[in-house]
Amino acid sequence: MPPSTSILVVGAGIAGLTAALSFAQAGFAVDIVERSERLEAVGAGLQLSPNALRVLARLGLDRERLNGVAATTVTLRSGRSGRTIAEIPVVSADGTAYLSLYRADLQSALLAAVAADPLITLTLGERCTALAQSADGTTLSFTRTDGSVAERTATIVIAADGVHSALCAALGLPAAVPSGDVAWRMTIDAAAQASSPGIQAWLGPRRHAVAYPVQAGRTTNLVLIGPDSDAAAGMAESATKTALMQRFRRWDPRLRGLIEAAGPATPWPLSTVDPDRSAPGMDGVIVIGDAAHAMLPYAAQGAAMAIEDGWTAAWAVTRASTPQEAARHYADVRTARLKRVRQRVAFHRRVYHLPALPAAARDLTLRLRSAESVARDLGWLYDWTPPER
Ligand SMILES: Cc1cc2nc3c(=O)[nH]c(=O)nc-3n(C[C@H](O)[C@H](O)[C@H](O)COP(=O)(O)OP(=O)(O)OC[C@H]3O[C@@H](n4cnc5c(N)ncnc54)[C@H](O)[C@@H]3O)c2cc1C
Repeated sequence: MPPSTSILVVGAGIAGLTAALSFAQAGFAVDIVERSERLEAVGAGLQLSPNALRVLARLGLDRERLNGVAATTVTLRSGRSGRTIAEIPVVSADGTAYLSLYRADLQSALLAAVAADPLITLTLGERCTALAQSADGTTLSFTRTDGSVAERTATIVIAADGVHSALCAALGLPAAVPSGDVAWRMTIDAAAQASSPGIQAWLGPRRHAVAYPVQAGRTTNLVLIGPDSDAAAGMAESATKTALMQRFRRWDPRLRGLIEAAGPATPWPLSTVDPDRSAPGMDGVIVIGDAAHAMLPYAAQGAAMAIEDGWTAAWAVTRASTPQEAARHYADVRTARLKRVRQRVAFHRRVYHLPALPAAARDLTLRLRSAESVARDLGWLYDWTPPER
């Protein structure tokens, strides 16, 4: 489609900002509309695998701008003993890094690139509340904080409004559902810990924990994931740490030390979107990121898929001559891959939280495998390259 095609992105999260930059790089003028009045640092850490970093590199966002810390392996440990089960290699065949970083650093880098791009306009404080289609394209209504309503019409709408997407609701797509899991996210000052732990995951019955350095190693991000009964309603902040220490009382003392040293823990109930909402069958609307396929963080791929989606949406529109064709190109490239990632997430969920006996069999199997054979399991995921325009 020609660069004069009107493009409207709803949501300025990782997916929406990446999509806007990708469209602008292809020569399209883009409007992004975001409901929040200010884009504040939300969330703690993220892992970005090589598949996502290749997209960011094409957009001019290299490792230095992301303040990330490179890892070569992820260490899987037994939750109870702390014994190493396996070192999972994460560097891609072409040498692209695997980073752990602070979500706010990624968002700031994307926002700085958006602000510097004359083809992109970002409007804050407008919530998308309705959608209608006509021969002119898709018209979206946005409600401002003062209650006034603005309408915008575009040929291509990118719905990047997150897991509880208003656009998906307006399109009649199924709502996200609670997964039954909760993530507790917390951070630890480098000064409060003996040494930077690299990327470590402790696996145990019904729960697991992941710790990794962010902010160029000045902070450690710690996430504890378990059943949502772990998050008792209305639990006071002071009681939370005590309750978490209790739930992890027989776990590796190194993990318990991290929980003790961490700042306040906030529960994040995890919802999922299944089946995928990316192809709503609506002309000119492409749903990306968590709005399309919010997935559990067991394979650390939610943001990575949002980044892949953003690039691919712009690629699909560039090579299409109609909105319908763009949606087809998008689905051709994304559907099978997203399905496979989802299957991998479900697999990790099963094997991470195994009870003691099957866990012993899992650990033995992993210990007997070579690093090369383990790396091959994830080659298809990390070696992905963005389609060329
Ligand atoms: C505990 C945990 C750990 C994770 N770890 C990783 C990891 O290691 N690696 C990884 O790749 N991913 C990880 N993820 C997933 C990742 O954070 C998300 O998948 C990713 O950030 C999704 O980005 P998004 O832009 O699609 O959605 P969001 O970040 O939710 O952005 C949506 C945006 O749309 C705006 N919006 C919403 N509704 C409207 C509306 N009606 N009108 C206008 N604007 C609207 C919102 O304000 C927001 O700015 C993790 C998630 C969790 C919970």
